[in-house]
Amino acid sequence: MSKTTNYDLIIIGGGAAAFAAAIRANELGANTVMINDGLPLGGTCVNVGCVPTKALLHIAEARHNALLNNIPGLDVTIEPFDFATAIAHETALVGEMRSEKYANVLEHLEHVRLIEGRAKLISTHEVTVNEQTLYADNILLATGSTVTTPDIPGLSEAGYITHIAALRNTTLPKRLAVIGSGPVGLEFAQMFSRFGVEVTLLARGKRIAKNTEPVLSQRLATALGAEGITIHTETTVEHVTVNSGIKTLNLHSPSGPETLQVDEILLATGKTPNTAGLGLQSAGVDIDSRGAIIVSTDYRTSVENIFAAGDVAALPLRLEPTAGKEGTLAVSNTLNHEMRTIDFDSTPFTAFTDPELAGVGWTEAEMMKRLGTCLCKTVSFEHVPRAIITGRTEGAITIVADPETRIIRGVHILAPHAGELIAQAMMIAKNQNTIADVVDSLPMFPTLAESLKIAAISFDVDISKLSCCV
Ligand SMILES: Cc1cc2nc3c(=O)[nH]c(=O)nc-3n(C[C@H](O)[C@H](O)[C@H](O)COP(=O)(O)OP(=O)(O)OC[C@H]3O[C@@H](n4cnc5c(N)ncnc54)[C@H](O)[C@@H]3O)c2cc1C
Repeated sequence: MSKTTNYDLIIIGGGAAAFAAAIRANELGANTVMINDGLPLGGTCVNVGCVPTKALLHIAEARHNALLNNIPGLDVTIEPFDFATAIAHETALVGEMRSEKYANVLEHLEHVRLIEGRAKLISTHEVTVNEQTLYADNILLATGSTVTTPDIPGLSEAGYITHIAALRNTTLPKRLAVIGSGPVGLEFAQMFSRFGVEVTLLARGKRIAKNTEPVLSQRLATALGAEGITIHTETTVEHVTVNSGIKTLNLHSPSGPETLQVDEILLATGKTPNTAGLGLQSAGVDIDSRGAIIVSTDYRTSVENIFAAGDVAALPLRLEPTAGKEGTLAVSNTLNHEMRTIDFDSTPFTAFTDPELAGVGWTEAEMMKRLGTCLCKTVSFEHVPRAIITGRTEGAITIVADPETRIIRGVHILAPHAGELIAQAMMIAKNQNTIADVVDSLPMFPTLAESLKIAAISFDVDISKLSCCV
């Protein structure tokens, strides 16, 4: 081991949380080292998460719309689909964004040095990497998470892929089982289905997308089913066997045992925080039962000078924007003695299916749990003129409000571009606007954004009798 080098801050990880932290540390003039290993610089989001999935979903949607061919007067025909070219485009895009948004940015951070190597805590102030020991006043843990591998007998022997291989393989399986029905499982199920793969989605719970309103998850299931995706809910995979490359999943569902034969299995069974082998015990950093690092509202761990941010921390949402913000705030709180935190009740999430599923704040169930009562309304997009015009009425919007104050506490939307629409709801939740505030607003006609106003009006008026101009 070489001798100890001193820093103000050591950041372990090189993803969204680490990068945002490094940028903030640089602004504060802190002598910082960022240590990354495993995924390339930029971590999950740019390399194997948000960016490549959305690039492929965009191509899948274009193919789907061309094949659907349901635009009156427009006859579209498409050549055979070249999946390898789609993957080549996606990987090139990832490479460009990684250098522009991460590598080049890092070069301009004069106080931040990058070390590539596996980091491990050996005490509250010391980290080892590449046979050297580094010392810092403060340490930020931003090591992200890795796909959880469920303990299913025969699964490892049969083989499976995760999002990482799914974004790199240049050939398509004929039949695919997707295990898990959160955003990642849903996005991949629809993407592969739209690329022509026969997809079966296996959900352990009673419904897909369990964190949203039941009516929205039901409508999403109907939309995915209509595209040819088979969905099994309340289904567990008991064991897996493989024979001549064909994988047989033995399932257990309310209707009894069943088998499913596929050519590939995609695991989307949640993420496990990357804390194994990080030396947390040597420093006395506490973790929860999932292995996530327990943090206070200012992102401090059980050790005074060690902080955690992003997917590795035990926090309610695991997204790119939250990881980045947590990284920034952890450094501001540590080095600049601020006491800032994220308000998760006004932080939106989106599953980038088509229609998209987005939400911010409380669901009806959460409101009932917290207040024992709810002022809640769900409106179908059949009442939204833009949705009628474009033939996209399959979605719905739910508003959850406090019955006493009529302050809007939650909005959940299933619709095309719901990920964009939810930004408006985010400001409503952040500013604690009331139903009356939204009724009094003037969204452009005809837009999907009008859905928020129509849903707000529905609390007091029968919207089936509304004219377009009200
Ligand atoms: C398929 C998929 C799609 C997604 N899509 C979206 C989306 O559309 N929008 C969205 O907001 N979020 C999305 N997410 C979630 C988002 O990508 C993550 O929440 C976010 O990237 C987490 O950032 P992070 O910095 O915490 O971790 P990461 O980006 O994972 O970075 C952690 C880094 O630390 C490295 N590391 C781990 N251990 C060590 C060690 N001991 N020493 C050194 N380095 C180490 C890792 O290899 C990695 O490079 C998606 C996730 C997946 C998997």
